[in-house]
Amino acid sequence: MPGDDQKFLPAYLKLSAEERSEKVKRFNQIMHSCTFCPRSCRVDRLQGERGQCGVSADLYISSAGPHFGEERELVGGGGSGTIFFSNCNLACIFCQNWTISRGMDTDSPGSVEELAKMMLNLQKRGCSNINLVTPTPYLYHITAAIDRAAGAGLSLPVVYNCGGYESAETLKLLEGFIDIYMPDAKYGSDRRGETYSGVKDYFSRLKEALKEMQRQVGDLKIGSGGLAYQGLLIRHLVLPDNLSESEIIARIIKEEISPHCAVNVMAQYYPAYQASKFPPLNRRLSSLEYSTAREAFQKAGLRVL
Ligand code: SF4
Repeated sequence: MPGDDQKFLPAYLKLSAEERSEKVKRFNQIMHSCTFCPRSCRVDRLQGERGQCGVSADLYISSAGPHFGEERELVGGGGSGTIFFSNCNLACIFCQNWTISRGMDTDSPGSVEELAKMMLNLQKRGCSNINLVTPTPYLYHITAAIDRAAGAGLSLPVVYNCGGYESAETLKLLEGFIDIYMPDAKYGSDRRGETYSGVKDYFSRLKEALKEMQRQVGDLKIGSGGLAYQGLLIRHLVLPDNLSESEIIARIIKEEISPHCAVNVMAQYYPAYQASKFPPLNRRLSSLEYSTAREAFQKAGLRVL
């Protein structure tokens, strides 16, 4: 009997070409006074201005290829077709990809056409999905490339792999382009977000964004081959000394998002970028810190991957 995934059509193929094109146009217009993310810089990126993320209207991609280090549910035999975008709308002092997020890892700008070809090439290479890492500042380029690639045979699920600092209004406009939302849930308070990621309202915006993501795609769905094809998968990187406030995150997910939500509780923290200057972020996690955090999610009855 075919699994549900065999009847699955990616979100962007359920939109008409006209609907996709309207949304692409709207994303382009928004760049005149950018509000893609809650920083709401309102700079005119189409005139070359740059907001807090440091991105103008150009598209900068750091690298693309099959990635085998992602969650098992995203990898499969061909890997997750990962595209790393340059820069970021957050400024985490412990960023593990800081050369990419600080825009130090790119050379010349790319085009929408090249991004669409990249997606089709990842599909041709047997990847299980298109995994967009730090996509937020590039929503115009991404939706335009998906639109173009859809017309040329793209049929893989698209994963939105972000830091969790998203505007619910922008996500509403994005509806129909994304199959799997994979946001971080970094902290359980605005205060920690301000101290460690440079934004005043991380937790408030995270909750709104998670609600919108859940509304669009629901709980994580796994197909007959063990691969995710739709839904919400939250990542929680455990930080030393419970700076990541795991119990609060677990409770909020259970009470406000979904009691069946899939969560990857991540143990791989190490002091990167500027973390050595900010104790206790200057050390790795202890096994007790990790197991305590993981238990909080298990006790909440969530689906811990
Ligand atoms: S995407 Fe960049 S320019 Fe736009 S609001 Fe966010 S930080 Fe500002």
